[in-house]
Amino acid sequence: MNAMNVYLDNAATTSVAPEVIEAMVPVLAETYGNPSSSHATGRKSRVIIEQSRRSIAAHMQCHPSSIYFTSGGTEADNLALRSAVRDLGCTRIITSEAEHSAVIKTAQSLERSNDVQLDLVRHLADGQVDVAHLAELLAKPGKSIVSLMHANNEVAVVQDLNRVGKMCREAGALFHSDTVQTMCHYAFDLSELPVDFITCSAHKFHGPKGVGFLYIRKGLQVGGQIEGGSQERAVRGGTESTHNIVGLARAMQLAYDDLDAHVHHVRSLKKRMVDGLIAHFPDVRFNGHSDQSDRLYTVLNVSFPPHPKSGMALFLLDLEGVACSGGSACSSGATLGSHVLRALSFHDPKRASLRFSFGRYNTEEEVDYAIDAIKRVFAPVK
Ligand code: PLP
Repeated sequence: MNAMNVYLDNAATTSVAPEVIEAMVPVLAETYGNPSSSHATGRKSRVIIEQSRRSIAAHMQCHPSSIYFTSGGTEADNLALRSAVRDLGCTRIITSEAEHSAVIKTAQSLERSNDVQLDLVRHLADGQVDVAHLAELLAKPGKSIVSLMHANNEVAVVQDLNRVGKMCREAGALFHSDTVQTMCHYAFDLSELPVDFITCSAHKFHGPKGVGFLYIRKGLQVGGQIEGGSQERAVRGGTESTHNIVGLARAMQLAYDDLDAHVHHVRSLKKRMVDGLIAHFPDVRFNGHSDQSDRLYTVLNVSFPPHPKSGMALFLLDLEGVACSGGSACSSGATLGSHVLRALSFHDPKRASLRFSFGRYNTEEEVDYAIDAIKRVFAPVK
C-alpha cells in the first residue's frame, strides 16, 4: 500500500466536483423527458438545457445561439474543421503538428479525401508558432481556416489568440482554436476575441465526461456533420444529454466563480514542483518552458536527466501511487512517445519526459509526496 495516492494527471481528465454531481443527480432521476417532445415532461428538459446554454454563454460573453453542445472536445474540433470545409468554402487548413490529434487527424483526413490543402506552420525553438511563417501561409491563394490551440496540452505553450485571430481576420481566413485546456482556467470574452470557433470539454474542469460544446461565431451558416434529428439547430443531430449539459454548466459556474483563487492555488503548486525538482536534479529541463510567465499554469512537462530506469519511470511512479502521463490524454501510459515533443524538437530518447498536471483538489502535501517519489525512481544507481 502506498502512503498516498496522488493524482497529477488533470490535463487528461479531472474528478467530477461534488457540486456537479449534486446538480446532475436530480436531472438523471427526474428530468428524463426528451427535450424535443412537446409535452410538459419534455419541455422541462428543454428548459434546463436552455438555462444551461444561457449560463455558459454569459460566462463566454457571447449569444446563447453560438453554443452547440457536442459529446466533447474531439467532436467539437471535428465539427469546426469539417464545417469550415463543407459549408464555409475553405480550401486550405493551416494548422500545426503540435495540435491535439482531434485536429491534426481531422485535417489529414480532409486532405486525403482531396477536400483541402494542408499547410503546417513552423514553430520557434520555444514552441511558439512562428507568426512570420503563418503570415506567409495566409498569403497563399484560396480561403483558409487556421486551427491553432490556445494552450498545448502536453508542453503548456500558450498562443496569443488575439494576435493570431487578428492576422486571420486581416487575411480573410477563419480561425478555430482548440481551447479545451484553457476553458475554465482562463477568462474568455468572445465579444472581443477575434475567433470563429472554439471548443470545450467538460471533463477537463471537474465536469462530466462525454459533453462539451463548439462555439460558432454568429453569422456563420453551418450545416450538420452528424445526420439525424434537428437537435442543436440541425448542426448536431442526436438527443441531447440533459444531465451532462447541466453538469457542464455547473462545472463552468464553479470554475468562474472562483477563478482568481484557482489560478493562485494551481500556480503555486506548479512552482513548488519546479523548485523541488530543480533543487534535486541540477540537469532537469522543463519542455516548453523557456520562461514561466506565459505558460499554461496547470501543466508541467519535465525532461529528467538520463537514467537507466527512464523507460519505466511512468510505471514506477504509478507503483509509488503517483498518476502522471507520458503523452497526451489519449496516450497516457503508452510508450510510443509524444508526437508533440517530436514536432517541437523536445524529444530526447535518453531522457524520460513526464507530464504532471495540477488541479483544484491537489495539495502542497501531495506535490511534496510526488517529488519524493520521483527522487526514489530516479535515485542514483550504484
Ligand atoms: N483537445 C485537447 C487539447 C485535449 O487535451 C483533449 C483531451 O485530451 C481533446 C481535445 C479531446 O477532448 P475530449 O476528451 O472531450 O474528446
